[in-house]
Amino acid sequence: MKNIDSTYTNNSYCNLCQGKCCKSCGCFYYPEDVNLTFDNLISLLKEGRVSISTMISFKYKSLKEQEIAFMLLLRERNIKRDVIDLFSLPTTCASLTKKGCMYSEAKRPSGGLHLIPAFKPVLCHYDEEHFSKLSEWQQYQELLSSVIFQMTGLSFEEKLEEDIENYFYGFLKENFEEVDSSSLTEHKVMILPIIERMYPHLKEKAQERIKNENTLSLKRTPK
Ligand code: SF4
Ligand code: SF4
Repeated sequence: MKNIDSTYTNNSYCNLCQGKCCKSCGCFYYPEDVNLTFDNLISLLKEGRVSISTMISFKYKSLKEQEIAFMLLLRERNIKRDVIDLFSLPTTCASLTKKGCMYSEAKRPSGGLHLIPAFKPVLCHYDEEHFSKLSEWQQYQELLSSVIFQMTGLSFEEKLEEDIENYFYGFLKENFEEVDSSSLTEHKVMILPIIERMYPHLKEKAQERIKNENTLSLKRTPK
């Protein structure tokens, strides 16, 4: 990021809060952070610090009904999440150490550097440039989809459906390990109800998986 100044790096606020933003999710890269060729993306992802993920946005389908749209991008990897992590409950960024971010400011994903710290974490906010920079990922959707296919053998849509089914499965099993409580509330209140409306068949598949697992474990219980 050019011209980093103290507005963006108020370490006294960040030291006090100990990286609440990093505990809620890894930060987004901007396209300008990365050499965006197919081969370079494969090498970068194999290094283990970055995931292909999505940014979600809310759209009104009708006056009363909202939908969620997904845009592919790169994000610092979260703990216990995969290299292709299109949709999941966000966990702590895997690059957060006891001493803070493992990257120097010059090497940090730009999304993290555009978050302006405040004396209360809830007041930290992104600058005006952030969302327009993220929207530049729109031009790279095909490239990222081809990398997803190379790494998983699935199209973007197929992989997204797989991840959404796992998201339902995680909720049904109450697997909230490493998930920050405010992110969990945000998902429960704002995101899960929309995803349930959009993908009822995937929720049914997750329920079916759990039913089958329970049947299997009953069969295995010795008499
Ligand atoms: S930017 Fe805000 S939430 Fe993140 S570490 Fe600094 S004060 Fe905490
Ligand atoms: S890369 Fe660094 S600044 Fe970004 S979320 Fe991870 S620990 Fe925080």
